[in-house]
Amino acid sequence: MSVVPARAKIVIIGGGVGGTSVAYHLAELGEKDVVLLDRNELTSGSTFHSAGLVGQLRADPTLTLMNMHSVELYRKLQSTDTPPSWRECGSIKLASTPERMQEIRRQIGWAKSFGLDLHEISPQEAQNLFPLIDLEGVVGACYMASDGQVDPSQLAMALAAGARKNGVQIYTHTRVLEIKTKNGRVSSVVTDKGEIECDIVVNCGGMYAPQIGRMVDVRIPIVPMSHQYLITDNFMDADAPLLPSLRDPDNLIYFRQEVSGLLMGGYERKSQAWSADYNSIDDIPANFNSMLLPDDWDRFYDIAEASQKRVPKMAEVGIKSFINGPEGFTPDNEFCLGETKVGGFYVAAGFCAHGIAGAGGIGKVVAEWIVAGEPTMDLWHMDIKRFGASYESPNFTLKRITENYEEYYDIHYPGEERKSARPKLTSPVYEWHKAHGAVFGEKASWERVNYYENTMGDETKRPQGWLGKNWSSAVQVEHHATRNAAGLFDESSFAKAQISGDRAGEFLNYVCANNVVKGVGKTVYTQALNSKAGIESDYTVTQTDINEFMIITGTAFATHDFGWLEKMRRELSFDGVEISNITRDLACFGVMGPNSRSILQSLTTTDLSHSAFPFMTSQEIEIAGIQVRATRITYVGELGWEIYSSIEDGLNLWKIIIDAGQDFGLIACGYRAIESLRLEKGYRAWAGEINTETNPYEAGLGFAVALKKENFHGKLACMDAKEKLKRKLVAIVFDDITSTPFGSEPIRINNEVMGRIKTGGQGYTINKAIAYAYLPIQVCEPGTNVEVELFGHWASGVITNEPLFDPSNERIRA
Ligand SMILES: Cc1cc2nc3c(=O)[nH]c(=O)nc-3n(C[C@H](O)[C@H](O)[C@H](O)COP(=O)(O)OP(=O)(O)OC[C@H]3O[C@@H](n4cnc5c(N)ncnc54)[C@H](O)[C@@H]3O)c2cc1C
Repeated sequence: MSVVPARAKIVIIGGGVGGTSVAYHLAELGEKDVVLLDRNELTSGSTFHSAGLVGQLRADPTLTLMNMHSVELYRKLQSTDTPPSWRECGSIKLASTPERMQEIRRQIGWAKSFGLDLHEISPQEAQNLFPLIDLEGVVGACYMASDGQVDPSQLAMALAAGARKNGVQIYTHTRVLEIKTKNGRVSSVVTDKGEIECDIVVNCGGMYAPQIGRMVDVRIPIVPMSHQYLITDNFMDADAPLLPSLRDPDNLIYFRQEVSGLLMGGYERKSQAWSADYNSIDDIPANFNSMLLPDDWDRFYDIAEASQKRVPKMAEVGIKSFINGPEGFTPDNEFCLGETKVGGFYVAAGFCAHGIAGAGGIGKVVAEWIVAGEPTMDLWHMDIKRFGASYESPNFTLKRITENYEEYYDIHYPGEERKSARPKLTSPVYEWHKAHGAVFGEKASWERVNYYENTMGDETKRPQGWLGKNWSSAVQVEHHATRNAAGLFDESSFAKAQISGDRAGEFLNYVCANNVVKGVGKTVYTQALNSKAGIESDYTVTQTDINEFMIITGTAFATHDFGWLEKMRRELSFDGVEISNITRDLACFGVMGPNSRSILQSLTTTDLSHSAFPFMTSQEIEIAGIQVRATRITYVGELGWEIYSSIEDGLNLWKIIIDAGQDFGLIACGYRAIESLRLEKGYRAWAGEINTETNPYEAGLGFAVALKKENFHGKLACMDAKEKLKRKLVAIVFDDITSTPFGSEPIRINNEVMGRIKTGGQGYTINKAIAYAYLPIQVCEPGTNVEVELFGHWASGVITNEPLFDPSNERIRA
């Protein structure tokens, strides 16, 4: 007889901190019909052997807010009758290099915008707080009093107790063997104790999550990595106040007090995957419950040596225990959260050795996501849909994870590029780019040209601080060529989809906020909104036939944006609508700039005049005998066309356009120039200025919302958002082009911190630094002076009317 219930609305798989926290928060949101299953005891995966450090400030604002929620929750749980041993001992981060000190100052700056109590302390003050450290090489430090430590197993037990109290049923020693689906949605979970029919399954399997994902053919790119720490014998006064946690990232080590000894761990430069390699996906033994891996002292040697330099006592005290535990890591060190391509199948796993710090926040956002059916915060960086098809490959996945693990504690400067597993996806023009001085960047495993190192611009415009690290003056040359003559951009990596079927137009007009059915040959810029009017996607739709449309979106957004369309189609029962990802079928080249018409006209008999080929229209034409689709559109604020050809014709077409452009000042340009040009023109970027948390009206995109349409997804919320505008995206310019913000810096108006920068960069035509930020509506008036903290000093900027360049759109409508 089955001991599990025959039905539950929500089944959570996994009873580590992840699963118990999701259960706790679901119950708090009033979800009563929830079952949690674990194949062994609770906390028998990675949770039981965690070091338990809880730090809040991370490189990502959303993650910081999530960790702040964790601390608030752990504090609250401490006063229940199942306390998790939360100890608010504070934390110190040491800078052992000047660059690290810059990073610390930057973090102190943006901690202000969260109201976090992070402040700079001198090396001596750090030593007063943690007397065991040697100050050799320490440049400075920071201290956060509200960070702490927790007992990981007790935390999971406390969360489970809270969940149980609110109705969640927990079954241990119950292994999930199979997950069944019906019409693209989960329908039941089969366990060794019986089958549970359900609407939603949450995969909180930690490092086992990929195994569980495979039950429904969902690839979850997580690999168990060995992670090690040791605990010394007790040697300190047991009655003295608890030491703060200590991180010394330049030496790859961390410490916390354990009873009256020390716990010390770190991130080895030579990592070790477990139960997976470059040729095969993870294969964790079925009996790997509450188990550890054998000690690997060889790999830990450098960490141990570094610890003795920073804390000389480490060379004297004995070692009580050594832990080598596997933990699930993702290819970019961010969590793997959200609904997958299978309806109702959620994942919350891959916590990359910060799952204890993150658990409270993870449980909250995932529970909210499940209840609302869409994320309630901007969770793009953690969304499983950020991973494209390349992560099907174990080789690609492990190379990326290895690189990340080994650079975990390194400073990551803006514009830094991944080094491993490249090149993966290339355009047909890749070899030409290489031969012509291209410096490549990588996006969603595509090689894309950042810039060509042929002609250099004005070196005095190099931004101060971090943004200057990976900067090139060549970008100015490409920027000016596009504004003054013409630039040719290889945009073949754009994500492209074809939507077809009798009801394709009806479907798209419901999903999109703008009216996208305007007749064959019309191109429309639109957003797809969620039910709260948050922007789920931002793309263009071209009607290519009566019942056929082409969607073009950003390189990194294929899985996310087309996944949203799939979900909408499934949930709204638009059964006959076909959604095909055609990204790799077509090359795309942007010919942009005042001379673009003359260049293309010299290659085609089609009339390209403004009246014959207006802005936001698209035609199938021939260019030098090659069949292409040409769409008159721009992302740089200039007259221009995007030309789509077959992959086979791509290289030939590129060379033909380059040759034809020689007399018109055309040069090949890269993505960094696009970024500078679009910032000047105020064109929004999804995951930049806009995301699921922002609505079109506050983002200045009200012009792309067709409120006159009878209905579209999110319409009611959109009307409400228009009425009750509380904040607005504003452009801020800085006269000193080298005072360049790049994101998350705090903004002060009349000495009060009012917000933080979303995106920033340089505009070479207006010769100013540019930033965009959401600010309360009452302080958004153009002309308002603001200050932005850049590495410890406040730079002066001014809120300025948008767009900063060509406000009457004369150039694009030429
Ligand atoms: C050595 C080490 C030190 C760490 N230190 C820190 C730290 O200081 N701070 C920090 O924030 N984080 C730290 N972490 C990370 C943290 O421990 C993890 O991120 C976290 O515990 C992961 O929790 P989880 O719930 O995702 O996974 P797990 O704890 O692994 O839980 C997954 C559960 O799923 C169950 N399960 C799997 N398959 C099935 C199935 N088919 N059916 C039913 N149940 C199943 C398993 O039994 C398991 O209990 C550390 C990790 C390690 C390894």
